[in-house]
Amino acid sequence: MKYDVIIIGAGVSGCAVARELAKTDLRIMVLEKEEDVCEGTSKANSGIVHAGYDAMPGTLKAKLNVRGNEMMARLSEELAFDFIRNGSLVLCFDERGRKQIEELYERGKANKVPDLEIWERERILEEEPNVNEEVVCALHAPTAGIVCPFGMNIALAENAADNGVRFVFNERAEHFERTQNGWKINGKYDSEIVINAAGVYAGHVHDAVSKEKIEIRPRKGEYFLLDHEAKGLASHTLFQLPGPYGKGVLIAPTVHENILVGPTADFTDNFEETNTTMPGLERIRSLAANTIRNIPYHSVITSFAGLRAVGNTKDFIIQESVPGWIDVAAIESPGLTSAPAIGEMVAEMVRKRLHPEKKADFVSKRKGFVNVKKLSKEEWNELIEKDKAYGKIVCRCEMVTEGQVRDACNRSVPASSTDGIKRRVRAGMGRCQGGFCLPRVMEIVAECTDGSMEKVQKAGAESVYITGKNKEDLDGVR
Ligand SMILES: Cc1cc2nc3c(=O)[nH]c(=O)nc-3n(C[C@H](O)[C@H](O)[C@H](O)COP(=O)(O)OP(=O)(O)OC[C@H]3O[C@@H](n4cnc5c(N)ncnc54)[C@H](O)[C@@H]3O)c2cc1C
Repeated sequence: MKYDVIIIGAGVSGCAVARELAKTDLRIMVLEKEEDVCEGTSKANSGIVHAGYDAMPGTLKAKLNVRGNEMMARLSEELAFDFIRNGSLVLCFDERGRKQIEELYERGKANKVPDLEIWERERILEEEPNVNEEVVCALHAPTAGIVCPFGMNIALAENAADNGVRFVFNERAEHFERTQNGWKINGKYDSEIVINAAGVYAGHVHDAVSKEKIEIRPRKGEYFLLDHEAKGLASHTLFQLPGPYGKGVLIAPTVHENILVGPTADFTDNFEETNTTMPGLERIRSLAANTIRNIPYHSVITSFAGLRAVGNTKDFIIQESVPGWIDVAAIESPGLTSAPAIGEMVAEMVRKRLHPEKKADFVSKRKGFVNVKKLSKEEWNELIEKDKAYGKIVCRCEMVTEGQVRDACNRSVPASSTDGIKRRVRAGMGRCQGGFCLPRVMEIVAECTDGSMEKVQKAGAESVYITGKNKEDLDGVR
């Protein structure tokens, strides 16, 4: 089958473009090298919906950040993913920093960020009593929010698939041929337009078809994630004054009532370097202490790291670099916030070329995952009446039932790994990090796929848990 559009990469950028284009009658495919959506940077970030005061006026980053923020509430309602407008504070702990706060305020106004205010010490401590008392002033942005990055990426993908977009996983796009009216990828997928949304690899993918190189350097950000018991440490997203490498270390609540502390910002030449390190985590501890002195690190349940795709233009690179080839590259922060607007912008570029019709039966809404924690007793009982699996708790830390895990395996973009389950319904996301629920989750994934436990993966083909059965080995010995 020939496609009108092939999108490389099923991160939040690629899926936002796919969902926007799904509103048309175009034939669309998303090619992803991993086994699921949300496997790149979109799964490892701060989950902040930035207000938009940080980027330089006139840049794509500024424009798409503010537009993405504006679009987020409606999108989260339509697609049923978690988003909370909790507001953010950029805190200043020294009178000498006040000028920088004022500059951010002016920049925000130039970017048309609504309702910015500068708060003084008393107001800050009233709203955020755990903040270091030496705080002087802060930029308050009430339009900033927090989103579930996985929830958003998965929701965009599912809604695109519900509207006819085809997803192909475990296929790295690596061979590109020019054809008479488009491109052939890997010798088998034909398309009139290709959209390169390959995250940190967008430079490599672009360079395969163009002499004008796009340089992407990964910049690693490491984090601590704290358990629910740390809830209440902060209610706004608490930033420090930004430095040369970005927005600095933040302390933020998550939509799932955890607390996030990080990230670092270290360049690396390794495009797969998502490990956390002792020096990185120590640095976070020492920097975050400027914001809140007594962070309860005994509540840390995990640490993780993501890679920013830093380009050489200081801005997002969204352009038709070669006829029929659109790059969505260097999508570093605020890429998550901007994704809905990136989708809109790129879909418009495609529309201008291909002049598609609107899809008459486009379904804009998606049914979200059930979260039994948010149901009333009556609602939960009603659900159990319909399906007993919703009465069996699988993950005790996050209160996830068998019914939810099965649902995650049976969606239009189904989970095929235990990490896929974790990102969809949170089994394994809690305090014990899957220590309790993993074997049961594996059994359910096996039942929902081909029945074989040996094939169940954590994330990708090289991550199977079971290499053989003990008794079989013993039989061999006897
Ligand atoms: C530490 C950190 C903190 C951040 N915090 C925020 C924040 O709070 N708010 C915010 O707005 N933004 C934030 N960001 C930025 C945001 O996470 C990214 O801008 C966004 O996730 C980028 O999405 P993407 O789809 O472009 O890339 P990705 O999510 O990386 O997706 C690219 C996809 O392409 C696939 N791929 C790559 N090469 C190929 C190939 N050849 N063939 C097929 N598939 C391929 C990958 O497997 C991947 O799935 C942060 C980033 C980091 C690293």
